[in-house]
Amino acid sequence: MSLNAFITEETIEAESEGPLSGRTVAVKDNISTEGVRTTCGSAMLESYVPPYDATVVERLKDAGATIVGKANMDEFGMGGTTETSAYGPVKNPVDEGHVPGGSSGGSAAAVAAGEADLALGSDTGGSVRNPAAFCGVVGLKPTYGLVSRYGLVAYANSLEQIGPIANSVEDAAALLDVISGPDPKDATTRFDVGGDVGEGTDAGPSGADATEGAATATRPATDSNYAAAADGDVAGATVGVITDLLDGADERVVERFEDALDDLRAQGAETVEVSLDSVEHAVQAYYVIAMSEASSNLARFDGVRYGKSGGYEGNWNDAFARAREEGFGEEVKRRILLGTYALSAGYHDKYYKKAQDARAWVKRDFDEAFDRADVLATPTMPVLPPKLGESLEDPLQLYLMDANTVPVNLANLPAISVPAGEADGLPVGLQLIGPKFGEEAIIRAASAAER
Ligand code: GLN
Repeated sequence: MSLNAFITEETIEAESEGPLSGRTVAVKDNISTEGVRTTCGSAMLESYVPPYDATVVERLKDAGATIVGKANMDEFGMGGTTETSAYGPVKNPVDEGHVPGGSSGGSAAAVAAGEADLALGSDTGGSVRNPAAFCGVVGLKPTYGLVSRYGLVAYANSLEQIGPIANSVEDAAALLDVISGPDPKDATTRFDVGGDVGEGTDAGPSGADATEGAATATRPATDSNYAAAADGDVAGATVGVITDLLDGADERVVERFEDALDDLRAQGAETVEVSLDSVEHAVQAYYVIAMSEASSNLARFDGVRYGKSGGYEGNWNDAFARAREEGFGEEVKRRILLGTYALSAGYHDKYYKKAQDARAWVKRDFDEAFDRADVLATPTMPVLPPKLGESLEDPLQLYLMDANTVPVNLANLPAISVPAGEADGLPVGLQLIGPKFGEEAIIRAASAAER
């Protein structure tokens, strides 16, 4: 039986020769491909064919890559197991009775199973790193603003970035080289202005400070060579271990994590313990913000502007409601309802504003931690991949699985998940987090960890 890694298997040929000539890429199905159906894992977009390419897809074609299909995913990116897809769940190629992680589960499974050399996922709260960890491959979530989101169907736009998934750190970095860099079509991408970093606009609801881009230390490379940073040279680097995120984790995961740290120390890295008081509030803050943004972003799917109409006539409100009732799955509806509630007049300050305050606190905590360490380390996921079907009953439990990944999105930082061995035959991932635009540092440390 197939893994069900793809929703649409269709080859999109390269437009020129380039660094990815001869390589195949799976593209998550929330990334627009001109002329090729893009469903976001939703029945709502069952027959939606975008009239244009996402910027990252254009860059893949220019770089010589062959796209082999649109990868299965949790509906609109909402989930951590790829079981909320309207096109059925994806199986984990390492052990088919288990989930591949999510929401970019099809992308990670395709790479792990050799159905594609490389893949693109999107990471709003962990969706590149989580499935990479669960499938035993590498996944990188770039700094907010490093990769264009033009053509990515938005779930929670202040949090998400498109990121590479690959079998090795070097391959993931080489794919990042292709997709990263400023894009005039996405005003939140950073671009160089005469030696300083400019920014098209403030990052909006992220609370990002428009002046913070001025420091040359956080300057993104436009002529990047991230692949060259995969040199394994971790000697002299300080790795900060976020102790708060170890307490609730599965013991078997923590054992593999400790092994990975031993290994980095053996290669000359120094480890220190760091504590971030804010991270215990990160999951709550993340879900309030993500659902609020989702409730607004998904308003366009009403069967008229976007999405299947169901053919209802008469009263507009009834027709919209019927289209949304039929087109959206249970998890998406839950989030639209909760997000609408959190943003409503009487509750905005109590939930949304409070979550933004927590977000600012998480950012400050990370800033302080980077005064003491070059990169920070946690297990990517606090648990081993659940069995298929096991976690659908309890959404709260599923949200808690994101404890180690969502702080990174709240703070707009880069992070990578690299395989750290197996426990009970299931993959465990090591997460390395860097300062803003510190992609080189995490790539370097991750390449040491994978050796
Ligand atoms: N599991 C998280 C969520 O459901 C993260 C999803 C993502 O990164 N797209 O929101």
